[in-house]
Amino acid sequence: MRDHPRSHRAAATTAVHAGGQPDPVTGSLAPPLVATSTYRQGNPAGFEYGREGNPVWERLEVLLTELEEGSGAAVMASGMATIAAVADLVPEGGRVVAPANGYTGTRVLFRRLQQAGRMHVDLVYIEDTEAVRTAVQGAALLCLETVTNPMLSVPDLPAVIEAAHAAGALVMVDNTVATPLTVRPLTLGADLVVHSVSKYVGGHSDLVAGAVIARDIALLDRIRATRHASGGILGQLETWLALRGARTLAVRFGRQQANAAELAQRLEGHPEVISVSYPGLASHPHHQRAASQMSGGFGALIAVEVRGGAERAEAFAAATQLWQPATSLGGVESTLERRARYPVDAEVCPPGMLRLSCGIEDVDDLWDDLATALAETRPAE
Ligand SMILES: *Cc1c(COP(=O)(O)O)cnc(C)c1O
Repeated sequence: MRDHPRSHRAAATTAVHAGGQPDPVTGSLAPPLVATSTYRQGNPAGFEYGREGNPVWERLEVLLTELEEGSGAAVMASGMATIAAVADLVPEGGRVVAPANGYTGTRVLFRRLQQAGRMHVDLVYIEDTEAVRTAVQGAALLCLETVTNPMLSVPDLPAVIEAAHAAGALVMVDNTVATPLTVRPLTLGADLVVHSVSKYVGGHSDLVAGAVIARDIALLDRIRATRHASGGILGQLETWLALRGARTLAVRFGRQQANAAELAQRLEGHPEVISVSYPGLASHPHHQRAASQMSGGFGALIAVEVRGGAERAEAFAAATQLWQPATSLGGVESTLERRARYPVDAEVCPPGMLRLSCGIEDVDDLWDDLATALAETRPAE
């Protein structure tokens, strides 16, 4: 029993209601799709042109701002568009520290910026706190991931954020994999959070979108100015779909996390499996760290190394019936992928490692499918 209402609503409630005010004119509960490029001048909301703003963007931005406990958000055309916009904050010739074992696209982007002479980039293993402390001296920006994709390492967020701020660097945290349901990096001191909305927030593998959420509005205004000037904006339909998907984030992600926790445990005991990386397992090298900075779960990705190397891993992925061999993650359907098929990921992943993105299906059906495919593809002794 509670005498007073809490100051904060739970994320499950926020996900359903934030930015969800009924349309003032028609009373429509579902948000109207505002498919316009321009607005009649003098309108009370102050909208002018579609590259600058749209009421549906604003609803999704309010929702993500509240979920991440930030001050404001900017939705953009993709997760990578948001990271590129954050990279654009770095002064000419400045230094950036980014994850050596993080998301492929991020590593590719920073490598290109370095090769073009735009900035100096140090790629470090971000779970190595001492390495980050050293690298961040003199840096303008530290890029982190709450849980790295695909290896699922966990940085000590409070420690590395503090080190970056002491060195005068901004901190961006990619929270795509952990979602604001388990970690809110802005409350741990991060300056900016980015999301690939294409993943858990959208949740249905039917759109590509991104968002930046900031603690400081002045910083967000610089990102919005980049969005306006460079023009990589999110389309109305994608925004609307992302908003609809986000309404069920808490129930989807709750189920996905429960499935992942159960499957990680079962896989760990399987004779055809060499190793399982899942932050919720006691065997994970950063399990204690993850437990202290995540709440409500450990995410819904599992990295599994199967016996038999690359060939077996590919055969296993192809032999599953429910699990679709596909890139990306975070959809309601379970997918899996051998990550070392990408040269950039082959630098950090063993050849026989698959990333499993757990969906919302029945956990025993998912397990039966994995176990059958493992049995069918067992290498000859
Ligand atoms: C997919 C992904 C991105 C890139 O997002 P897009 O929407 O595909 O541009 C960035 N970070 C992480 C962790 C991702 O998984």
